[in-house]
Amino acid sequence: MSELQELVEGIRRDLESHLGEGKVADYIPELAKVDPRQLGIAVATIDGGFHTAGDADTPFSIQSISKVFTLTLALGKAGDALWTRVGREPSGTAFNSIVQLEYEKGRPRNPFINAGAIAVADLILAGHQPREAIGEIVHFVRFLAGDDSIAIDHEVAKSETETGYRNLALANFMRSFGRLDHPAEHVLGVYFHHCALAMSCRQLARAGLYLAAGGSNPVLGSRVVSRERARRINALMLMCGHYDGSGDFAYRVGLPGKSGVGGGILAVAPGKASIAVWSPGLDQHGNSLVGTAALELLAQRTGWSVFGP
Ligand code: GLU
Repeated sequence: MSELQELVEGIRRDLESHLGEGKVADYIPELAKVDPRQLGIAVATIDGGFHTAGDADTPFSIQSISKVFTLTLALGKAGDALWTRVGREPSGTAFNSIVQLEYEKGRPRNPFINAGAIAVADLILAGHQPREAIGEIVHFVRFLAGDDSIAIDHEVAKSETETGYRNLALANFMRSFGRLDHPAEHVLGVYFHHCALAMSCRQLARAGLYLAAGGSNPVLGSRVVSRERARRINALMLMCGHYDGSGDFAYRVGLPGKSGVGGGILAVAPGKASIAVWSPGLDQHGNSLVGTAALELLAQRTGWSVFGP
């Protein structure tokens, strides 16, 4: 067994007694049904290595992790013009906060808080019906992972559509400042569906490889973005990927990462590996409790960090 495989399995074992800690997101009713005592880890190295432990093949709702992929797609369409719509600063407020939108005249602080991702969905919608835009996102994520079986969990999308009052408020508030080009219902149709993509850690680690390998996926041999753009997306993940827990994540793990309220986290060790972890119990900021602990152990034991050897 390779050293990295042993290390990944060791982390799974060491966290066994913590499984079930944290609180599963229940504001999206469908997510409340998930068994919290699960932990999956998958590490895809840029030389083609692949290592998994625990529930690495169980699909889960990637939720806000999808915002990394929609940002990548939208940057491809709009280029730097995207930054007239969304900022690049950490928010320091909750993922679904509306407060700053008023001070900043409807321009969200970054593309990873809900308001920012809604603005990104609006850009992807340009010239399309919601159904087409959703199809394009699914297609793109399948391309990134090299896996055509990836699909949306329609129960989750429906559950969020029925209860996403706050996101509807965010979208309408932005529209009142002229910041959205499409009706809130259309934009949210796109947003709720990309959040409801179901992926396993294995698929997610593969999909994130382009961020670890300078913009192209070395396993599939496909270029996704330029080297410079990959670096910039990583920078945004580091600064903004964990909402108002981003500083703590950088301190503990030292890698760019993006979390989702489904309990997943995609982390990037540039030049080394793309890592996906999943454990449904969340901390007070909506980030996976045991998943973060797994990444902290992985970073300690491999020495991977963007802050030094
Ligand atoms: N779809 C979720 C929401 O809008 C995403 C939140 C998250 O994963 O952080 O509330």
